[in-house]
Amino acid sequence: MTTGTTLDDYTDRYARRTRGMTASEIRALFSVANRPEVVSLAGGSPYVAALPLDAVGAMLGTLGSVHGASSLQYGIGQGDATLRERICDVMTLSGIDVSNGASPDDVVVTVGGQQAIDLICRVFLDPGDVVLAEGPSYVGALGVFQAAEADVVHVPMDDNGLIPAALSEAIATVTRAGKRAKFLYTVPAHQNPAGVTLPDARRDEILAICQAAGLLIVEDDPYGLLGFDGENGGDGKPLPAFRARAREGVIYVSTFSKTFAPGLRVGWILAPPAVREKLVIASEAQILCPSAFAQAAVATYIDTMPWRQQLKTFREVYRERRDVALLALGDLMPAGTRWTVPSGGFYIWLTLPDGLHSKDMLPRAIAERVAYVPGTGFYADGSGGAHLRLCYSFPPPERIREGVRRLAAVIEHEMAVRSVFGVAASPSFEGTIRWAPTDQPPRRFRTADTPGPETP
Ligand code: PMP
Repeated sequence: MTTGTTLDDYTDRYARRTRGMTASEIRALFSVANRPEVVSLAGGSPYVAALPLDAVGAMLGTLGSVHGASSLQYGIGQGDATLRERICDVMTLSGIDVSNGASPDDVVVTVGGQQAIDLICRVFLDPGDVVLAEGPSYVGALGVFQAAEADVVHVPMDDNGLIPAALSEAIATVTRAGKRAKFLYTVPAHQNPAGVTLPDARRDEILAICQAAGLLIVEDDPYGLLGFDGENGGDGKPLPAFRARAREGVIYVSTFSKTFAPGLRVGWILAPPAVREKLVIASEAQILCPSAFAQAAVATYIDTMPWRQQLKTFREVYRERRDVALLALGDLMPAGTRWTVPSGGFYIWLTLPDGLHSKDMLPRAIAERVAYVPGTGFYADGSGGAHLRLCYSFPPPERIREGVRRLAAVIEHEMAVRSVFGVAASPSFEGTIRWAPTDQPPRRFRTADTPGPETP
């Protein structure tokens, strides 16, 4: 009955889009990484313990009794009207408001940012369509592009995010191939996984390039309100989003996962009216409606609790952890190791000394009780092995320092083995993608192996 070599009796019946859906060896390693003795700098979990959990718990307790008739009922596909108004209040912090046409009517509530990305792909992508995305890019979005059977073209970044000239070049390459990219997917602020932020002028430049090329921007902004310093004088006020600069040609996505609680699974999309209508129909086909209870929880949280103060608390927690991580890296990492300096969010992107490969090195790191996500997860073709992602949002500061110390020892060991034997301790790997722009044309590929949900 089976045609392959697996023990899976269903192999010949699966849809084509499942081909890349294999449990990776990285996922297996992460089951070990969740043990308490391992310092995990891998998964991107927010530090929800910084919430006033008793007060939030009491608030949740009232939902059934006060709003039971509605919060335990089905809702509408587009999402609760009150919550959509509150979402518009939140978006004003990113410069998205009535002056640029933002309205609760054009908000679609989703099951986290992840469903938002999935809906957008359902509405826009046919198999073989091209998506432009930062290189490296959010692993969860790559999984959706893969399921949509899209071709991902990565656009290189530097320490200031997506490089405008590289974007123009990527658009030209796709055009020369007789195709037209369906959209540019970008995380402009405190990017996952690179931790970098597009400065003001670059945002204008990128917007102008996209508008001239008729290229839609899908702006994914989970971390915009978690800025520590830089442009905002430490008050966390983000740079105006792409959507704040243009009311057409931009679909804005965000979530309460990083600013409140990922367990509630509430995110949203702000889209031009025609697109919004299609997104609602697609969402109804998928989930009927988002959870009424979770939506009531978020709306009540915003109405009754000091959410702006809480944002400040989160920023302070993450800034302290970022500082500890950067200090430890500076103190402990061997020469030849480089890393980005995030001005907000959760992530640092580390570049290994020449010749080392982050995926090959992972088993040894886990044996030494430290976990990270190899850079390979963030490129659609599994390149990026010269890099790895460190996430500092969850472990307490002393564990972050200990994790960096263990990682530095692992890198030093790999370097020593390499200098003695001429190869890394683990099998070597050739194809690395440069972090900075290259003189090579952007590469086209199908998505490959991506880590699992442990790496949001
Ligand atoms: N986009 C980005 C860039 C993310 O980092 C994440 C979560 N790590 C998401 C979307 C999805 O978030 P959620 O579904 O929890 O809202």
